[in-house]
Amino acid sequence: MTLDPNILNSLHHHTANLHPELSLIRRALHQHPELSGEESWTSAFIAEKLEKLGLLVQTRAGGFGIIADWITDPAKPTVALRVDMDALPISEINDVPYRSQVPGVMHACGHDVHSAVGFGTAAVLAELGKNLPGNIRFIFQPEEEEITGALRMIRAGALIDPVPRAILGLHVAPLPVGKIAWTDNLFLAGFEHYLAKIIPGDRSAASSEKLDAVAKRCCQVIKGFNRWTLPETRDEMQAMWKLMQSNDPDLQHFTIFDASTDEEDLIARRGQFGIGIKAASHALRRAAIGRVKASLNTITQANQTHYQLEPMGSMPDVRNHPELVQATLPALRQVIGAPNAIQLKAAFPFNCEDFAYYTKLIPGAMYWVGAANPQKGQFAMLHTPNFDVDETCLTTGVMAMSALLIGALQQDF
Ligand SMILES: [Zn+2]
Repeated sequence: MTLDPNILNSLHHHTANLHPELSLIRRALHQHPELSGEESWTSAFIAEKLEKLGLLVQTRAGGFGIIADWITDPAKPTVALRVDMDALPISEINDVPYRSQVPGVMHACGHDVHSAVGFGTAAVLAELGKNLPGNIRFIFQPEEEEITGALRMIRAGALIDPVPRAILGLHVAPLPVGKIAWTDNLFLAGFEHYLAKIIPGDRSAASSEKLDAVAKRCCQVIKGFNRWTLPETRDEMQAMWKLMQSNDPDLQHFTIFDASTDEEDLIARRGQFGIGIKAASHALRRAAIGRVKASLNTITQANQTHYQLEPMGSMPDVRNHPELVQATLPALRQVIGAPNAIQLKAAFPFNCEDFAYYTKLIPGAMYWVGAANPQKGQFAMLHTPNFDVDETCLTTGVMAMSALLIGALQQDF
């Protein structure tokens, strides 16, 4: 179902009017980046603005998180939008008037944009008044980069009183500005992290040197499985997005091992090393783990040793709710133009997102918001010191999230 023409007009009108303010908010956030768990200024800055809009605002949720409700009628359903607020320990090299004022800390993952979009969506939907077919909960989450914030927000009650019927999320991406990439399948794969220990095979304890040598050999072999590395150039990134749109079989070979195999680490821990596994799907991740174990078996047996794998942490997949995505797709296409809504058939194989934890509890969907404009030198390459966005993405983000939230209130899924 598409949106009512009056609502559509209102969204366009208010979003266009709001753009100068959204740009100022994003730039203020960009100049004051705060690391995970330290988002006190950011949180106070946003909470004050949400209160002025008339939302019911709860601060200090799960640390410096905010839970803000726009209630039109408590008897009607509620849907939630989650945005994140934290920055990264990266030194900005952009020469822009709004560059980071905090040495060594930078919004290099666009969470300043996400927070501005969260505020903008609240402002635009609040303008709809009683025409909004339900209630909206805005979750401003801290500590996403440490992947600890989502669980803290859930424990703080973000998904209760009332229980939202769906939760949406967004992340900027190095796609052309104006585009939104969607999937009704896996959005981001989780990871599994293990500590591998090489242990002597008999009672005559093997020397530390021998254990280290076996560990090193294991690392070499496991690293050799990698067919892909994180795209570093714009061309490599473009190629990756093309693969994701076509679900190229090449992507099905994808496996990364972010193993801590550097020499110092290995020697410090004597025969121990980390193995981190991410892949473009859950099935690939299982296959990768199988392959790792087979290699460890072969190498340790040949060297009269054994191995142990100890789980060190993991993150579930972000799997979009297919019916939610499909039910709200007409509204998305309507507000941004059908050609601007790009379907992804495979997940970006590198990043993880703690948005995964919300989607374990209620239907959820996450979207990539195109933020790149190469002609203006804005490449939106995440986690790089020259990360920057074309701020038109603020408008696209607000329009898209507003339409999707209304769609999720109107539609069954
Ligand atoms: Zn991020």
